[in-house]
Amino acid sequence: MVITAGEPGAQVPSTKKLIEELWGAKNYDDIGSTEITNFGYECIRQQGTHLNEIMFLPELLDLETGTPVKAGEVGELILSNLCCESAPLLRYKTGDLTRFNYDPCDCGRTFLRMEGGVLGRADDMFHFGGVNIFPSAVENFIRRVPEFSNEYQLVVPPQGSGKRLRIRIEAASRELSDDRVQAAIKGFIKDIVYHIKITPEVELAEPGSLQRFEGKARRLVRER
Ligand SMILES: [Zn+2]
Repeated sequence: MVITAGEPGAQVPSTKKLIEELWGAKNYDDIGSTEITNFGYECIRQQGTHLNEIMFLPELLDLETGTPVKAGEVGELILSNLCCESAPLLRYKTGDLTRFNYDPCDCGRTFLRMEGGVLGRADDMFHFGGVNIFPSAVENFIRRVPEFSNEYQLVVPPQGSGKRLRIRIEAASRELSDDRVQAAIKGFIKDIVYHIKITPEVELAEPGSLQRFEGKARRLVRER
């Protein structure tokens, strides 16, 4: 069993799958933040991330209006400490975007679940071509493609420049034929158009040339 923590990491389905395949083990993700400590975990059923409601009072608010979202909608997770005596945080804005599911889990716990885990970070989200885009959502599609390495960059041109969002990827290996990589790129663009509703440009970088990160990765590059 591999237990991970840190964002977006194992909250991204295809990244979780990669970890499970690499280690030949089940991967469960814990979530928390430096400020408010660990507040959630995945159970053995892997049906979303349970929120520890004994220790935290959760709210899910609309990013723009700050009012509670309707059932099933995505909002920002707001937490209040119920147990912390030294420095309790009240209505702390975690910056994590998620969706609540109040149905009992097959594991028997009644703590609400964050469906699909953390879907993205409010401060990572960027607005482009009329849609809100989360780098973690793009990552999910990149890591499904075996012809690509796991590294990527999103290059965001200035608004109104008429340029497309550029996704820099690497081929997984130099051994792959051009035809195979190009076919994979075509399929990948189709996925992005269908699921994220933008048509990106894909830039193929030399294998091994994109920056590697230990700790938090910075994938977003804003062009001026
Ligand atoms: Zn459960």
